[in-house]
Amino acid sequence: EEHTNSTKNEVTRELSLTGSGSTDSGGRADSLDKHSDARWPRQNSLSMKEWDIPYDDVKIFEVIGAGRFGTVCRGSWHGAVAVKLLHVLPLSDDGSLLDTFKHEVSIFRKTRHENLVLFMGACMKPPRLAIVTSLCKGMTLYTHIHLRKDKFTANKSVLVAQQISQGMGYLHARGIIHKDLKTKNIFLESGKVVITDFGLFSVTKLCFGNNARGDSLGIPSGWLCYLAPEIIRALRPHASLLLPFSKATDIYAFGTVWYELLCGEFPFKGQPPESIIWQVGKGVKQSLANMQASRDIKLTDADEFKAQLLDILMVCWSYRAADRPDFPSLLNTLQKLPKKRLARSPSHPVHLSRSADS
Ligand code: ADP
Ligand code: MG
Repeated sequence: EEHTNSTKNEVTRELSLTGSGSTDSGGRADSLDKHSDARWPRQNSLSMKEWDIPYDDVKIFEVIGAGRFGTVCRGSWHGAVAVKLLHVLPLSDDGSLLDTFKHEVSIFRKTRHENLVLFMGACMKPPRLAIVTSLCKGMTLYTHIHLRKDKFTANKSVLVAQQISQGMGYLHARGIIHKDLKTKNIFLESGKVVITDFGLFSVTKLCFGNNARGDSLGIPSGWLCYLAPEIIRALRPHASLLLPFSKATDIYAFGTVWYELLCGEFPFKGQPPESIIWQVGKGVKQSLANMQASRDIKLTDADEFKAQLLDILMVCWSYRAADRPDFPSLLNTLQKLPKKRLARSPSHPVHLSRSADS
């Protein structure tokens, strides 16, 4: 009898593994996520139609940029929109890509929050797969920080971080893991944070995987430093669908965004991928000694305050996922930072502080 039981358990486990593997919820996904995974095909068939935009209804204008999974164009559909066109390779498509796409769209469409990009619909007839969202008007944090070298005061950084925490807290409350939180996916529209590309990771990685060379780990540049130790340790060639994304790995990625805001550069700057993988996997963090010396850090003279900002970084970058905070408590911490001190930061040029009080 014992034997029968254990076999049954194994079968159950196998089934649930298959289920989560195909939708990329990963081993660590929370129960909410799993729950919605289990039910999504039924939901799809009932309500997918209202989000299905006929491809020919969308006017496509110039290419804005190319990401991992396709091309983003400016377009028009009842006004200005951004259209993400997916590269679908007919050869490799056995229907699972379409299913994954529909699943991710069904998650995407359930989101309504000030700090999240507005999902408008999707073109779901292969080979034309596209996601239509509102067009973000501002620039990404990546452009501000790394290309324009805009300086963010501590004040401004805190306001940006608060809004990110708010948007991310909402996503997590709905059981959605972003999986690709990075400064390239965070827009700033006159002081307002707009987060994009949440929950689309499987589709993006599926397409990327199809294009990847055999010898590559499949790591796009600039991605590595957002990956938590447990993800780094799970990296294998062509196994990106099994990476253990979780709410806690989103928090880790937030930590990197926070570092970029404070320091104006990426952690482990200039180091080769192998070295970053080795260090992060072992639990070595970016040294903050540099940070104190960097003239780019817009912190007040108060050491205690500075320590509070760095504490946020360290706790988000905790090696153990369980030691990382959640977004509501992060938001709480950010809101409790002393405001008076934030208000005076006299000695540095302030490029982005205009909207700081609004
Ligand atoms: P990545 O996020 O890695 O830069 P994407 O494919 O998501 O790759 O984006 C490609 C380009 O399109 C980027 O320059 C990005 O800023 C831009 N973009 C993506 N979504 C939007 C949007 N909703 N509004 C305006 N620009 C966008
Ligand atoms: Mg993006």
